[in-house]
Amino acid sequence: MSTHRQTPIEIEKQEFRKTGYRLIDTISDLFETMHERPVTRGESPSEILDLLSDKPLPESGSEPSGIVEGAARLLIEHSLFNGHPKFMGYVTSSPTPIGALADLLAAAVNANAGANILSPVATAIEKQAIGWLAEFLGLPHGWEGIFVSGGNMANFTGFLAARTAKSGEGLKENGLPGADNEMTIYCPEATHTWIEKAATLFGHGTNAIRWIAVDAHNRMNTGILEKTIRDDLKTGKKPFIVIGNAGDVSTGAVDDLSAIAKICTTHDLWFHIDGAYGIPAAAVPEMRDLFAGITEADSIAVDPHKWLYAPLEAGCTLVKDPQYLVNTFSSHPDYYNFGNDEEQSVNFYEFGMQNSRGFRALKVWMALRQAGRSGYRKMIGEDIALSRYLFHLAEKHPELEAVTHNLSITTFRYVPSGLSLEDEAREDYLNTLNEELLNELQQAGEVFLSNAVVKGKYCLRSCIVNFRTSEKDIDEIMEIVVREGRKVEKHLV
Ligand SMILES: *Cc1c(COP(=O)(O)O)cnc(C)c1O
Repeated sequence: MSTHRQTPIEIEKQEFRKTGYRLIDTISDLFETMHERPVTRGESPSEILDLLSDKPLPESGSEPSGIVEGAARLLIEHSLFNGHPKFMGYVTSSPTPIGALADLLAAAVNANAGANILSPVATAIEKQAIGWLAEFLGLPHGWEGIFVSGGNMANFTGFLAARTAKSGEGLKENGLPGADNEMTIYCPEATHTWIEKAATLFGHGTNAIRWIAVDAHNRMNTGILEKTIRDDLKTGKKPFIVIGNAGDVSTGAVDDLSAIAKICTTHDLWFHIDGAYGIPAAAVPEMRDLFAGITEADSIAVDPHKWLYAPLEAGCTLVKDPQYLVNTFSSHPDYYNFGNDEEQSVNFYEFGMQNSRGFRALKVWMALRQAGRSGYRKMIGEDIALSRYLFHLAEKHPELEAVTHNLSITTFRYVPSGLSLEDEAREDYLNTLNEELLNELQQAGEVFLSNAVVKGKYCLRSCIVNFRTSEKDIDEIMEIVVREGRKVEKHLV
């Protein structure tokens, strides 16, 4: 047998360089020309399947250069680009170019960031990135945390730490208490669907969730929160967690975090902030007051793949006291030789749900270094200003109605001039019209918006977490919306 084993998966150096450099050329062309491309071609799933043709698993392999080029062409010609300057749907950011390079590097080194011994540099970088995130948000020294795949996982991680902290002894061994001592969960009506998944997956059931009413601005009514907790205590329930939104997913509303913190202190409850989308805005000095109270939280979910522009996936859980993560997730099987007594060492498998873990921190760490605190403040501040600009344009336009603006989310709708309907008939008609309009816009690919239902109104929703969007894009988007709105209106009539 020769010293160099021949395998069908190795790529010889010259070939790797040639193929890799060509791919980098293709990607940089994509970044440069993205604004000229459609956001999406709106192709149907069957059209996309046809592109792959119905081939069986290949029996033998083929040349890597052709595979890489073919895959790049396929993806570039037929993808939806959330890096396009006119993409502002859901909460999905444009990806940082440095993050793309970071993911390539992370994959090449392939650090397993589950244990320090397997990832000495990656673990240190993850710790530093977590520290920087906490610092960016203005949290005091001592907060720690872990990178996870996204907001859902980040919220789950905080939720499980809360349960450990507030359940008392025996949860690990005995599971959840019976119905008489049910552990109850408090969150505003505007909370993201993750909480239903958490209640279902972790054995509480959705009946354990107390959906607290929100005010006219989509913020949790803390008077009702307090009363609901007291009523539950009277009947023997065990309240354990209150969730506050720092940027609710529909309209970007930030709850009164200070008021929630006080209630949590009074009743010894865990205060978790879902900041998956909005909490990076706390780093912008003009916005800071809105987030008063964040330092009083016990855990915070933040999604670097949203407003820190990291390529998917990157979520993060920050906790005031990391011991609750360890108490929740740690175990010490005899097949691990990961001694944790060395100074400063962290084994991240003990902080969260994953065991083997990729190096998600690298793309966040590199981008924070590239733009710095001031660069991030500038980008986030500009996203907010653009969103406000969009709101003002909608306010001024005779055929548009501006509905809400918070952080970088604006909701608005198309209202044709001379509409003679009234009351319910009018609202029904406008809901149908705007829903059809959104479908048209999403298919056509000039701009990508999503929707929100605000007090019964079906609205178009723009969420700008996009460092490529400019004022010119906003002007053009408003023209497109009105132009298409008129068309849909004609079609409906
Ligand atoms: C996006 C979002 C989530 C879920 O995050 P994923 O990264 O999609 O899992 C949870 N909460 C809020 C407020 C969000 O905006």
